Amino acid sequence: MRDVFEAGRYDAAGRLGELEVPRADVTVDTPALLPVVNPHIGTVDPADLEARFDAEVLITNSYVLYGSDDLRGPVLERGVHDLLGFSGAIMTDSGSFQLAEYGEIDVTTAEILAFQREIGSDIATPVDVPTPPGVDRERAERELDTTEERLDTAAAFDPGEMLVTAPVQGSTYPDLREAAAERAGASGLDVFPVGAVVPLMNGYRYADLVEVVAAAKRGLPESAPVHLFGAGHPMMFALAAALGCDLFDSAAYASYARDDRYMTVRTTEHLEDLERFPCSCPVCVEHIPEGLRAADADERERLLAEHNLHVSFGEIRTVRQAIRRGNLLELVEARARSHPAMLDGYRALLDHAGQLERTDRVSKDTFFYLSGDSPRRPEVLRHHERLDRVEPDGERVLLTEGSASDEFDESWRVRPPFGPYPRALSDVYPLTAELPDRLDDAAYEAAAEGVARLVAANPEVAFTLNHEDWPASALAAVPEAVECRNLDG
Ligand SMILES: [Zn+2]
Repeated sequence: MRDVFEAGRYDAAGRLGELEVPRADVTVDTPALLPVVNPHIGTVDPADLEARFDAEVLITNSYVLYGSDDLRGPVLERGVHDLLGFSGAIMTDSGSFQLAEYGEIDVTTAEILAFQREIGSDIATPVDVPTPPGVDRERAERELDTTEERLDTAAAFDPGEMLVTAPVQGSTYPDLREAAAERAGASGLDVFPVGAVVPLMNGYRYADLVEVVAAAKRGLPESAPVHLFGAGHPMMFALAAALGCDLFDSAAYASYARDDRYMTVRTTEHLEDLERFPCSCPVCVEHIPEGLRAADADERERLLAEHNLHVSFGEIRTVRQAIRRGNLLELVEARARSHPAMLDGYRALLDHAGQLERTDRVSKDTFFYLSGDSPRRPEVLRHHERLDRVEPDGERVLLTEGSASDEFDESWRVRPPFGPYPRALSDVYPLTAELPDRLDDAAYEAAAEGVARLVAANPEVAFTLNHEDWPASALAAVPEAVECRNLDG
């Protein structure tokens, strides 16, 4: 792995980063969106992607160019940047997708890598085997072996300045994904796509997607730039970014437009159902749905694709700003409320709170408690882990939601969902959290878990808990040795 990626500020496992692409002499700010450009179908002109959408990088398919009677000659002669009219970084795919769709392709990894180098690709891809979700384990392992051989071939290839990807496969077996990621990370290759996840996204299987990506992340070095192959809908960018994905490619902006589908970050609308456009991008300001429906097919497709791109790039900017400010998980939570399958994805993400906690930064914007899922966030986990290691000063200690008391050696505050903490930490993140007045039971239960951890770490201390009418489910989680008093009772 060449030293081309620098991760800056973190939020959960999401990060702002810079990917240096030496052959293009471009530095790509991440998380970044790579629009997929089909060299045969110019839905949106690549020059427009650069000029009007500020696209720093795009992805196109070298196998399509390789196999094209009319484009192969020109791209070899002029190079892929000149052919497409794009001066930013160009990543090229290898035909793996065609392999997955049609079962075979007529090019080897060595041939297609040489072709990608020859046409001036900046980030090239070997021919990996995209094993779909849910296949039997034997097939997943066998195909993974083939992918590993292709990565060996790629690692032995002289790419010059061109970066080369090492796709991570392994179907829906987290242990295979993790092992594949470890080997990819050790291959000497540069960028790490998590492959064959499109069927999961098309099937709204966001929880399964989270398991696959989390496993790949566990196997990769922290400094590895990670590409989520085929991340189409902007609804899931925040979720994927929170897992630590840095690059997203989207063919959906164009394929949706072809079917008259109009993206929003929350939904997909059909053009025929729209009375007015719920968006303020240039397309939606200048047109009304009726006008678009009356336009000719090519014009309609182009304008819808442009709108879809505006929404997609806008969501990437929203994700970056959320990481900068430190409220990415609040954004993920908001997006999770767009669709039940997204909620499953968010809940699966929180199953990996320990993994997210390792890179989460210590202080961020105010923690917003937004639902009964918020107590499972990494910030709460981290506070609970700290409680395993702190010692109160004294033998009789009060933990209270109310005021301090001289009857005790020391008085600590208690606050859902975190639990107890010394008063001196009251102004320290995340204990400055904003909570709704109407809390879920889960918030009190998490606070009770914090109490239990403090008690377990200090068996010689006599604790009293003054609470404001906690629900029975939370009080049941408080150890019996703790004397509980209801301040509201
Ligand atoms: Zn729009």
